[in-house]
Amino acid sequence: MVKVKAEIIAVGTELLLGQIANTNAQWISQQLATKGIGVYYHQVVGDNRERLLSVLAEAVKRSNLILISGGLGPTDDDLTRETVAEFVGQNLSEDEEALTQVERYFQRTNREMTVNNRKQAQLITGATLIPNKVGTAPGMIVDFQGSTIVMMPGVPSELKNMMTASVLPYLSDRFELNDVIVSKMLRFIGIGESQLETEVKSLIEQQSNPTIAPLASDGEVALRLTAKAGSVARANQLITATQAELEALVGSYIYGYDDQSLSEVVIDLLTKQSATVAAAESLTGGRFADALVTIPGAGHVLKGSIVSYTPDAKVNVLGIDQTIIELHGMVSEQCALQMAKQAKEKFNTTYGISFTGVAGPDQLEGKDPGTVYICLYQSEDNYLLQLYHFPKNRELVRNRSVKKGLELLYQTLKKNEASSS
Ligand code: ATP
Ligand code: MG
Repeated sequence: MVKVKAEIIAVGTELLLGQIANTNAQWISQQLATKGIGVYYHQVVGDNRERLLSVLAEAVKRSNLILISGGLGPTDDDLTRETVAEFVGQNLSEDEEALTQVERYFQRTNREMTVNNRKQAQLITGATLIPNKVGTAPGMIVDFQGSTIVMMPGVPSELKNMMTASVLPYLSDRFELNDVIVSKMLRFIGIGESQLETEVKSLIEQQSNPTIAPLASDGEVALRLTAKAGSVARANQLITATQAELEALVGSYIYGYDDQSLSEVVIDLLTKQSATVAAAESLTGGRFADALVTIPGAGHVLKGSIVSYTPDAKVNVLGIDQTIIELHGMVSEQCALQMAKQAKEKFNTTYGISFTGVAGPDQLEGKDPGTVYICLYQSEDNYLLQLYHFPKNRELVRNRSVKKGLELLYQTLKKNEASSS
C-alpha cells in the first residue's frame, strides 16, 4: 500500500483578497483525516493560469494526492479545467455524459442554459467524471506522473456533496484505505496552558498513538487526542486508555469533552441543582448573559441581566447606594459585592453575579485597564469576591471576565455537587 500524501489547492482570488475564508480546505482536511489520509500542505492561488501551473508543478513533486477546489464554473475567470489540462498535456473535449448532466441540472432547476455553461461539460482526455448532484460543474479525476489530481467546484455545498458521494469512496478503493483517525477533545478550566503541559509532559513525550496536542484559546486550554487505527472501535479504545491516564493526572480540571462549552456545562449543573442566576454587568455589557443565552435551555436557569454601565445606571436602575460609588468608586470590592447582591434580589435567584472593572484603553478611577472585580453572591455570609488583572486589551478583558465568571460559577456548582453526594 502506498503512503498517501495529500495536498489541497484552493483556487480563487477572493480567498487571497480575504473576502472569504478557505473553509473548503478545512473541511476537506477533516474528511481526509477520518480516512487516515495525511494532509501535508494547503495552498491558495488566485484565478491565474501561470500561478496555478507553478503551484501544480510544486504539488506533483511532493504529493501523490492533490485536491483542487474552485475554478470549475462557466465564467472566464474559472480556469482550473483548462489549466490542469495544459499541465497534464491533454486536450479538453465535450463529454456526452457530462453534457447530459449539465443539461439535466438546468431542466431540473428550470433555468436557461447559456453557451458558457456548455464549457462545464468539457472533460480532460482520460479523466474520470465526478457527477455533481447539486450544481452544474462536474468534477474530474486525472492521473499524472504518479499523482492523482481531483478537481471539485468551489461552491461548498457542491464540493461537500461530491466529496462524500464520490471522491471519498473512490479514494478508499483506489488507495485501499483502512485506517481511520478519531479525535477527542478534553476541555480544561482553572489550569493554565503551561501548568497543564508540565503536568502531562511525560505522557505527551511517550505517546504516539494517540498523539496528545495541547491547544489554548479564549482563556481556556484543551488537549486533543488523535488516534489512528484499523477501526473506529480500536481507535476509541486507544483514546480511552490514554484519556484514563490523563484523567488520573489532571482530571479535576476537566470540565467537558469535544464540543461541550463551559456555558453548556454551567447550565446543566444549574438545572440539576434547580438553581438560578442573574447578573449585573458593567464592562461585560451583557456578554455574560449572552454566553448563557446562546445555549438552548438557558431560560430555565438565567433569569436576566442588568447592564448598568454608567454610575447613574448603577444607582438608578440597579439600586447601588450612591455613597458606595462616592466612597469606593465603581471599580471596587464594595461596588461589585452590592451589584451581585442587587442582581440576586431584583431577580430573586439562587446566585447573583457581578462584573465591574476597567476595559481600557484608558484608566478609570486611577485603576489600570484589565482591573476587574467579579462577585458571585449567594448570601451575606456566602459569596466569592475576586480581583483580576487581565492583559490590557479591551476585547480580551471583557471576554476573560465572562470566562472567569463562568469559571467561578462552575467551581461553586461542582463543590455543591461533591458535598451533596
Ligand atoms: P461556480 O460554478 O460557482 O463558478 P467554481 O467551481 O468556479 O463554481 P468558484 O467560482 O471558485 O467555484 O467559487 C464559487 C463560490 O464558492 C465562491 O464565490 C465562494 O463563495 C465559494 N468558495 C470558493 N472557494 C472556496 C473555498 N476555498 N472555501 C470556501 N468557499 C469557497
Ligand atoms: Mg466561479
